[in-house]
Amino acid sequence: MARLNTIVDYTNELLDIGQFKDYCPNGLQIQGKTEVQRLIGGVTASRDLIDTAVEAGADAILVHHGYFWKGEQACITGLKYERIRRLIEAGISLLAYHLPLDAHAEYGNNVQLGRLLGVEIEGGFGRQGNIDIACYGQFPQALPASELAERLHSVLAREPFHIHGHDGMIQRIGWCTGAAQGYLEEAAALGLDAFISGEVSEHTYHVAQEAGIDFFAAGHHATERYGVQALGAHLAEHFGLEFSFKDLYNPV
Ligand SMILES: [Zn+2]
Repeated sequence: MARLNTIVDYTNELLDIGQFKDYCPNGLQIQGKTEVQRLIGGVTASRDLIDTAVEAGADAILVHHGYFWKGEQACITGLKYERIRRLIEAGISLLAYHLPLDAHAEYGNNVQLGRLLGVEIEGGFGRQGNIDIACYGQFPQALPASELAERLHSVLAREPFHIHGHDGMIQRIGWCTGAAQGYLEEAAALGLDAFISGEVSEHTYHVAQEAGIDFFAAGHHATERYGVQALGAHLAEHFGLEFSFKDLYNPV
């Protein structure tokens, strides 16, 4: 059990949220009970996740995708009202960490995904403010692109969408979870053999072909499951909380 404010202050500092120029507020987005014992984690603060948290008797929810995105309708109406009403009625706090949770050197989505894939992480690229969001590194041994596709499939339990652009084996790769296909050209300029992200765009195909780099879209949800799990487990240990991660279905 710990005080909500203590957990929020600690996490904000741990993830260095002030360093980021983000598309949403990071930290406590919806305030609930003063004390937290049971924490539920998920990728997105969807209505399903809120209902799951209410059923589980949670005091707080930790997510990567929260609310109040830049450019969206600011009013609390419609689906957004429904979600926020449920949270407030149940006294459940919502903690959301977006770019700070992609980029963190230990609990970040990208570092966690790199470890799962067995890549030796060498550095970062893809600047957002003062911080590199994407990672690059290399496999201990070069592998055929088909084998990398199989590895992504087995690690993420989801078949990736693969665009072939590089000739030969894959050894040095870049990756950035979520909708980071826009970093493909930068990845190619670093001389990487392949780049992995969650989503794909129409123009991604042509960039991969012309820049001579393989591209894998491995799922926005699938690639972003791991930061919240790592951070939630750390907070549970640090504050003596109960934590469970809910991997609610999302095929995108
Ligand atoms: Zn995302």
